[in-house]
Amino acid sequence: MTKAEIDPYRRRLLALKRRLVGDLSELEEESLRPVGGEPSGGLSDVPVHPADLASDDYEEEVILGLLENEAQLLAEVNDALDRIGRGTFGRCENCGREISRARLEALPYARYCIRCAQKLQADTGG
Ligand SMILES: [Zn+2]
Repeated sequence: MTKAEIDPYRRRLLALKRRLVGDLSELEEESLRPVGGEPSGGLSDVPVHPADLASDDYEEEVILGLLENEAQLLAEVNDALDRIGRGTFGRCENCGREISRARLEALPYARYCIRCAQKLQADTGG
């Protein structure tokens, strides 16, 4: 791929990275912020419904899950930008063939062609 051909992907990756970095710092703040008051006692005059506590727990789990996924995605995006820098972007890291444009449109950070991705996924059982 020529530099001009890669450029739209690079721009998308950079935009995605910006969004992910923004999201991550926001989510981190969210999950680090103390929720409610003390864990027990001290606030007996404040009505706290058990359902509220449960939803807080759930929310925290969801946020931590997002954090993990987004951190992973950010790592993929950084790797893709790295490959652009090295001139190997758009080439499968497994077989060395070009990754189809359709696949890169959907996943600009894809590191394997569709065949290898499916094969590797089958191999790891995931
Ligand atoms: Zn491949």
